[in-house]
Amino acid sequence: MNIVLLGPPGAGKGTQGERIARTLGIPKLATGDVLRGALAQGTPLGLAAKAAMERGDLVPDSVILGIMKEALAAPSAAKGVVLDGVVRTVPQAEGLARVLSELGRRVDAVLLFEVGDDELVRRLSARTTCEGCQTPYTGRDPGTACEKCGGKLVRRKDDEPEAIRSRMRAYHEQTEPVIEWYERRARKSDDAGARDHNGPRVVRVNALGNIDDITKIVMKGLEG
Ligand code: AMP
Repeated sequence: MNIVLLGPPGAGKGTQGERIARTLGIPKLATGDVLRGALAQGTPLGLAAKAAMERGDLVPDSVILGIMKEALAAPSAAKGVVLDGVVRTVPQAEGLARVLSELGRRVDAVLLFEVGDDELVRRLSARTTCEGCQTPYTGRDPGTACEKCGGKLVRRKDDEPEAIRSRMRAYHEQTEPVIEWYERRARKSDDAGARDHNGPRVVRVNALGNIDDITKIVMKGLEG
C-alpha cells in the first residue's frame, strides 16, 4: 500500500506515519529527514537544500523527485511505503504518480491531517527534536536526552518564529492545491466506478487530540 500523508508542519504526520508504517510493516519515507541527514553529512544534496530549508521555504521539485525515485525503487519499498511530507506541490504529486506508475503501482490512500494555524504555531514553537533519530518532543528543553536513542534534543532552525511563518505560507500556497488535485482524481474514479484502478482514497483526519485516538481513526480510515 502506498500512502501519502498530507498536512501542515506540526500536524503529527511524522508520529502517525511511524505508527502506520510499523503496523503495516512497510517503510516510511520523510524527505525532511533525508534532507536533514544529507545536511548533517555535508553532501551535495544537503548543501543544495540548506538555504531553502533554513528559511522555511520548499526545496526545488527536481531535488524531491530524485529522492522519491531512488527510495521507491529500493527493494525494501516494494510492498509499499508511507510518504511523510514527500508531496508538497502539484508537480511533485504528478511526479510521484509517474514514478509509481513506471513501477506498476499507484497512490492507494491520502491521509490529510487537519489542524488550525494557531495550534500549529504553538506546537512548533514548543518543539525540540532529537538530532540523532529525529523524534520530536513538545515542551522539553534543548540539550536534554532523547528517550528513544539518548541523542541530544535541539531546536530545529526552521522551528524559529520567522521560519515557521514561511513554512505555513508554503503550506497554504503550494501544498493545499495538492489536496484538491488528489480529491479530483478520487472523484473521477468514483464517477467511473473504478476506484480500484485509479484515484486514491482521500481520508480527512482531525489531528487535534490524543495521539492514540488519532492512530485508531487513521488505521480505520485506511481499512476503508
Ligand atoms: P519537514 O521535516 O517535513 O518539516 O521538512 C523540513 C524542510 O525540508 C521543509 O521545510 C522543506 O524546506 C524541505 N522539504 C521536505 N520535504 C519537501 C518536499 N516534498 N518539497 C519541498 N521541500 C521539502
